[in-house]
Amino acid sequence: MAAPERIHLLCPQCVEGIDVMVYRSIDNQLPDVVNQTISGALFKYRCPYCGRKDRLEYDLSFYDSENNVWIQVVHEEAQIPDYVRALNMSSAHMGLRVRIVHDIHELREKLMAFVMGRDDRILEIYKYIAKSQFQSQNPGFILTREPFYAGSTETGDEVITFHGRGGKNQLIPLDESYYQLLRHEFSARISMEPKRYVYDSAWADSFAAGIS
Ligand SMILES: [Zn+2]
Repeated sequence: MAAPERIHLLCPQCVEGIDVMVYRSIDNQLPDVVNQTISGALFKYRCPYCGRKDRLEYDLSFYDSENNVWIQVVHEEAQIPDYVRALNMSSAHMGLRVRIVHDIHELREKLMAFVMGRDDRILEIYKYIAKSQFQSQNPGFILTREPFYAGSTETGDEVITFHGRGGKNQLIPLDESYYQLLRHEFSARISMEPKRYVYDSAWADSFAAGIS
């Protein structure tokens, strides 16, 4: 694992200069790394001057040998093709589930899915369908972001969160039988698609358009 890097930034609230740690390359050498990443604890900081708490966002690579996962966080959409080319040319990721995600929020979601033994691609399709059902059943509810999957190894609970305006969130438990139905229906077809690394809501949209 590359050593964490100390960087200097200005607190957005009190504008004092503060030092924070960033982890540009994360792997299992870091203790409790999976839980620390899923909870977001690795990315949290607190300003020692005014007490403001926030979470850092930056590009990083995440490698988890226990769950066979390699996830690259790339915030700048225009840089993704470069990462795809580099991944296609390298054999370092053989046998791993390789994903490119757009932010740390999405990294946490993918990691939760893998830890819970889910296929993240099926979950993207699940969320796509759940979102359209939710919107037709709750016409007054304004979604502020894409639905978010979360699972807990402690309780075994899995939910899809619908984020509404003003922090009004609605949690709906994952329907196991519906997930399995989608898995049976689409796993083979997804595997036949050209190799890719980005599986997000935009991919689910285009996948759904291709089968309807
Ligand atoms: Zn501050």
